[in-house]
Parts: sequence; structure tokens; C-alpha cells
Amino acid sequence: MIGVLALQGNFDSHIKILKKINLKHKLVKTSDDLSSVDGLIIPGGESTTITNLLRKNQSLMDGINKLSKKKPILGSCAGLILMSKESNDSRVHNFAFLDVITSRNAYGRQVHSFEAKINVTDGSISSDIDVLFIRAPKIDKINNDVEVLATFQEEVVAVKQGIHIGISCHPELLNETLIHEICFKGKYEISR
Ligand code: GLN
Repeated sequence: MIGVLALQGNFDSHIKILKKINLKHKLVKTSDDLSSVDGLIIPGGESTTITNLLRKNQSLMDGINKLSKKKPILGSCAGLILMSKESNDSRVHNFAFLDVITSRNAYGRQVHSFEAKINVTDGSISSDIDVLFIRAPKIDKINNDVEVLATFQEEVVAVKQGIHIGISCHPELLNETLIHEICFKGKYEISR
């Protein structure tokens, strides 16, 4: 069962993807909700708002930190910002699950949202998937131990470090399941 952080943002569309790949889900609003989850999704939304809500709930923050030691966490867009080591904005909490530096809104404002194909490579998987960039962050720097999982126009748009994945855009809004499968399903269950 995969937890989906449901404080703010587009957690619904992630639930749709989990259903599509036959994984059970659980909405996570408190630290108690983290018990018995096998992974967590931090969705897109507004990283400052999610931060404010998290800062009001220290035990949830502690619980997420603890979970990250053992279970995979997937962050998209605002979720990636929160998972980064730095995002150069003190209003945002950085869990530092991914040793990367991100910059918020670097792909432009809401009106500059766009659809694109990104290339995902992981082991024997190499596949183009459709995504939406919505006020997306850029990944400015990736440090040692961080693998590039996807690129778009030669820029890194998704990364993997150990069991954790962060992606700057939204595959879940275009019904793409590959990133969720890589994060939460065994390699051999993915056929592409
Ligand atoms: N720009 C938002 C932020 O900085 C992220 C946008 C998104 O999640 N689609 O939090």
C-alpha cells in the first residue's frame, strides 16, 4: 500500500495512477497514516503551502523522515522541491532525500505551462512519456550518487537516488504510469 501525502495539491491524480497499476493507496494527513505504507508520494501543488502545513505537524515531518530510511518516496514538481537538498527559498522545507539543487518556477508561470515528451531511462528501460510542466522547478545541480532518470531538451527533469525519485513535471496528469512503476514496482514487473 502506497501513501499519498494529501495536505494540498494534486494527490487525486496520483491515486488514479496507483489504481491503474494495481497498487493500493492510503491518504496521508497525519503520522499515524504512515503506519503500514510501503512507500509515499509527495504530489505537486504549492511547495510553500505544503511546507506550512507540514511545519504545523512535526510528528508527520518526523514520520516522513523515518519512512525515507526504508521506503521509496516519489515527489513530483512541488514534491521534488520538498525532496531536494536545497531550493534556495527559505519558505520551503527541504527534506534532502535527493542530493540536488532545484529552483522553483524556473520553467515559467502558469500561462507558460506546456506538454512535452521526456525520455526516461532506467536500466534496460528507455521510453518516451508524456508529461505536463506546470510552474515546474528546474534541477540545477545533481550531486554524487544521484542518477539521471529522465531528460527533456538535454536538461535533467527526473532523478533517482537510492530508492527515491523526484520529477519536475507531471506524468500522472497525462495518465503515464512508468515513473510510479519504477519507484514502487519490482524491475521485473515492468514490461517495456
Ligand atoms: N511552482 C510550484 C512550487 O514552487 C510547483 C508547481 C507544481 O507542483 N505544479 O511549489
